[in-house]
Amino acid sequence: MKIQSSPVELLGAMGKVYLVGAGPGDPGLMTVKGKTLLEHADVVIYDALVSPSILAMINPNAERIHAGKRRGNHSLIQEDINALLISKAQEQTVVVRLKGGDPFVFGRGGEEMEDLLRAGVAVEIIPGITAGVAAPAYAGIPVTHRSYSSSVTFVTGHEHAGKYQPQVNWQAIAQSSDTIVVYMGVHNLPHILESLQQGGLGPETPIALIRWGTRPEQEELVGTFATIVQQMIRAEFDAPAIAVIGNVVNLHGLLSQSSPSIHSIPCPSAKEN
Ligand code: SAH
Repeated sequence: MKIQSSPVELLGAMGKVYLVGAGPGDPGLMTVKGKTLLEHADVVIYDALVSPSILAMINPNAERIHAGKRRGNHSLIQEDINALLISKAQEQTVVVRLKGGDPFVFGRGGEEMEDLLRAGVAVEIIPGITAGVAAPAYAGIPVTHRSYSSSVTFVTGHEHAGKYQPQVNWQAIAQSSDTIVVYMGVHNLPHILESLQQGGLGPETPIALIRWGTRPEQEELVGTFATIVQQMIRAEFDAPAIAVIGNVVNLHGLLSQSSPSIHSIPCPSAKEN
């Protein structure tokens, strides 16, 4: 790899940072490569959305640091996390930066990798299964389907903390994508639906919200643009959730009859917790 062939840049950093995707929650959806790194880690710096059964895979002798970020509750700011990763790479051999889902899908993995490389620290990415695919799948919703959807867009519904100032061109997405998967969209959902309707989607457009997808506490709400906000209020539905929009949502009724049982895959280390 390019990084290993330029050792001069790595002076001062003995370790390597592995940006590992933890997947959406079900421990059976963690990659073999990611699990092996957790078992051999010297230090693991993890985010709020990483599930307890994944944390149970961490080498018991490893140092664990919660760098978690949830709306309104930022434990460490991004600059601190980057500085921490750099300093840990100078002290330890295997530094795991563990993130929910996939690190490069709305996970700031790209930013962290840039900073680490600029500081001369070796980094490797281990992708994870992103919630935008797995949560719908566990709810019986395929994000593409030959009869209903030839395209899918992953989009963030939370662009500016505190204030909704959309940079996303929702109208263009409404017109061009069969399936729309919205991350971090719960709090701005009324605005998002309004913008998509301005783009031409009608009030009968199917939408599903999946909260804590692939975890034992997974919850789903299925409705239409006309009904979903009221359903959310009635159910006191909150983040973290994925919103899936489009005709694929209509498959939920049939396909969810055989949705995966979340603990069907034996995971001995998860049982310890
Ligand atoms: N990197 C992550 C996404 C981080 S952004 C990934 O690839 O999945 C955080 C948002 O992801 C949450 O607000 C929510 O919209 C979504 N999310 C993460 N885990 C989830 C889960 N288990 N179920 C539903 N949504 C989830």
